[in-house]
Amino acid sequence: MTHPAPASAALFNRATSVIPGGVNSPVRAFGAVGGTPRFIERADGAVLTDVDGRDYVDLIGSWGPMILGHSHPEVVAAVREAAGRGFSFGTPGEAEVLLSEELVSRVEPVEQVRLVNSGTEATMSAIRLARGFTGRAKIVKFAGCYHGHVDALLAAAGSGLATFSLPDTPGVTGAAAADTLVLPYNDQEALAAAFAEHGADIACVITEASPGNMGVVPPRDGFTQAIRRITQEHGALMVSDEVMTGFRVSEAGWYGYESAREGYPEGPADLFTFGKVMGGGFPAAAFGGRRDVMEFLAPAGPVYQAGTLSGNPVASAAGLATLRLTRELNVYPRLEAAADTLRAAVGEALTGEGIAHRIQSANSMFSVFFTDREVRDFDDAASQDTAAHAAFFQSMLESGIHLPPSAFEAWFLSYAHTDEVLDRIVSALPAAARAAA
Ligand code: PLP
Repeated sequence: MTHPAPASAALFNRATSVIPGGVNSPVRAFGAVGGTPRFIERADGAVLTDVDGRDYVDLIGSWGPMILGHSHPEVVAAVREAAGRGFSFGTPGEAEVLLSEELVSRVEPVEQVRLVNSGTEATMSAIRLARGFTGRAKIVKFAGCYHGHVDALLAAAGSGLATFSLPDTPGVTGAAAADTLVLPYNDQEALAAAFAEHGADIACVITEASPGNMGVVPPRDGFTQAIRRITQEHGALMVSDEVMTGFRVSEAGWYGYESAREGYPEGPADLFTFGKVMGGGFPAAAFGGRRDVMEFLAPAGPVYQAGTLSGNPVASAAGLATLRLTRELNVYPRLEAAADTLRAAVGEALTGEGIAHRIQSANSMFSVFFTDREVRDFDDAASQDTAAHAAFFQSMLESGIHLPPSAFEAWFLSYAHTDEVLDRIVSALPAAARAAA
């Protein structure tokens, strides 16, 4: 059952006549859950207020960036201050240097970064750089990992393509995808077989550092290290996509978390990509890594990459303020505690109704799969009962809790998800579990 939201429905109606499907990114559509997307008028802390005047506790967090919650006063002040000095110069400025220094200081193997405007640009550019640096054409990606809507990376991608059951997309030519090898995630044998056959032609392996776009599917023990080892053996680069995990799962992203836990005996990835949190809700992203590889980029080197708005001063100010506050407020332990509370409550509610489920986590990032299988790859994720998810989602929405409208996405918490906010979510769970049963 879907619930009325007349002002959102009226806007959606207007939107569908001028915007394909009424949304500017497919993940915002309610196609998988039914009903009308809520059109948001303002957002403050952990709460979204829609054009019908209804409040929702937000568990989307703009799909990751809003780690402090919405409209944090110090970020708002930093943005106002920067905007008061001009929006975009087309010449260098201090903010982009400060933001780059912050990224380099947090992720130790990253010696240089290039700022861009979206995660898509970051992965697209990292791949071009890897191909230019190695002089090789082929790339390896894993099914269910989403790296933005780069032509060569859309094969068997997660996120919106998983939500809408699209294996890939028309418009990507055979030629654009011909050099992409798609392997099952967490499968070391498939990786070894691909390198045995194509090793001398592979420029890079790109992987989500800990995938979140088929739901949260962390690397099994040794998988990340196996990618590192085999790429080194064959002279290929490893690209760790931390657009989602970067500065969310720890101060240094998944790199900081995993290295703290297990170490990288073979050394870290060669290139990293970042986005989301580092822009604090503004369009800012980056790719970076080993100096000798990064210096292959124009104007230092021959591989071309550019951007009119790259390193934008207002976006950089928002990102810097956000990153600074994650340290000052000691955000990460609080996110972990909030995630623990919520995971336990969701588990209890679903178990109480006898609903098959798995809750999988990458530190504070987690998702709820409506299946009883352990989810190790895209096929496991696809075994979910998406109808149960849709019923659960609708009940939560009716109770004023806005989950991602897809069974294949992480739930995003923020510093603004206080105990009181968590209580609101927890009290909505029993009805949602009954609806899903
Ligand atoms: N890489 C990962 C891991 C992502 O999760 C995303 C977006 O969800 C992207 C890349 C693409 O980023 P953007 O949407 O900013 O282009």
